Amino acid sequence: MVEKNESGEVWVYAETQDGELQELSLELCGKSRELANKLGVKTGAVLIGNGIENVAAKLFEHGIDNVYLVEDKRLTNFRSSPYSYVVVELIKKYRPQIVLYGASNLGRDLAPRVASATQSGLTADCTNLDISDITEKNGTVHKNLLLQIRPAFGGNIVATIVNYDKLPQMATVREGVFPIPEADQNRHGNIIREFYLKDSESTKTEELLGLNAVEVIKRETQKRRINLKGARVIVAGGAGVGSKENFELLFELANLFGGAVGASRAAVDSGFISAEHQIGQTGSTVRPSIYIACGISGMVQHRVGMEDSAKIIAINSDSSAPIFSIAHYGIVGDLKQVIPLMIKAFREK
Ligand SMILES: Cc1cc2nc3c(=O)[nH]c(=O)nc-3n(C[C@H](O)[C@H](O)[C@H](O)COP(=O)(O)OP(=O)(O)OC[C@H]3O[C@@H](n4cnc5c(N)ncnc54)[C@H](O)[C@@H]3O)c2cc1C
Repeated sequence: MVEKNESGEVWVYAETQDGELQELSLELCGKSRELANKLGVKTGAVLIGNGIENVAAKLFEHGIDNVYLVEDKRLTNFRSSPYSYVVVELIKKYRPQIVLYGASNLGRDLAPRVASATQSGLTADCTNLDISDITEKNGTVHKNLLLQIRPAFGGNIVATIVNYDKLPQMATVREGVFPIPEADQNRHGNIIREFYLKDSESTKTEELLGLNAVEVIKRETQKRRINLKGARVIVAGGAGVGSKENFELLFELANLFGGAVGASRAAVDSGFISAEHQIGQTGSTVRPSIYIACGISGMVQHRVGMEDSAKIIAINSDSSAPIFSIAHYGIVGDLKQVIPLMIKAFREK
């Protein structure tokens, strides 16, 4: 376990793919800045790879003060053991009080390994974070704890999880829940270079870390086919859409706006549309300018993925459907009649 360090920084694990900083890490930069301001400390980012120093400037522009850079040709591609070894060594040396990771495939692999090695806690898949003092039932006050907020018990409650004594406080964060802060090109920071995989002790270290256990021959990145996160308008369908064929209406409406089509889990489970369209607790988190929910009841597991949309329009045949309690505009009716009327009206305009 890492000793308490009240001036410890708020860190972000800066995830890169083919030398490009991932958007999820930029989202975390904004939040880490906010948390660090509340604590009166600096922000830091852990940047591991090979030939990626140029990424540091982007981290500074988005609110990071110090970049801990570890470059080595043997770290060109992410592998669990050497990467977690490096992060653990950095944590032991610099003692940050908070470390945030994106809840990506990489983050979900890396963060638990680091948590186990440092004997600290880890809250997975957070949907919000904050700082607050916490008083235990026995009156003990814990100052400035990280509130790690996430759906729990199948999404039926939103739980706030805190770590009194296990440091650093660590969380993985869902993609899309925090906005990317505006870049400030005049913002600069410090690069702190560290070398952990020294050539002098290469044989021992390589064996220890399993650096040679896996040889990466070729890497191919599958591009996302559905750009839900980038869409300004999302037309989402639920079980009420009724069939794959009826989903065509939603595609037609979305196309009129240059938007994307989303779905509830019930629609995905019914085979109306593929899982990559799913929005909610086990799908994507989105915050478009306009979200049109068609035949979606508005269960909490769906709402956590879309309730920050700027304008929500709900179409549902049941006037008591919970979706209407968060909708800015509601249309009570059969979507098979309402959507064609909307398409006609928008075409005429
Ligand atoms: C651990 C866990 C994780 C989950 N993760 C997710 C998730 O990521 N995303 C998600 O969406 N769900 C998730 N769920 C499932 C969630 O609890 C709900 O079951 C699901 O969101 C319901 O989808 P729905 O609103 O499409 O279907 P329903 O609840 O069946 O609602 C259908 C709605 O359509 C309306 N309707 C029917 N016919 C018409 C019509 N012709 N015109 C207009 N309206 C009509 C009905 O009035 C009804 O309100 C999760 C559940 C669990 C336990």
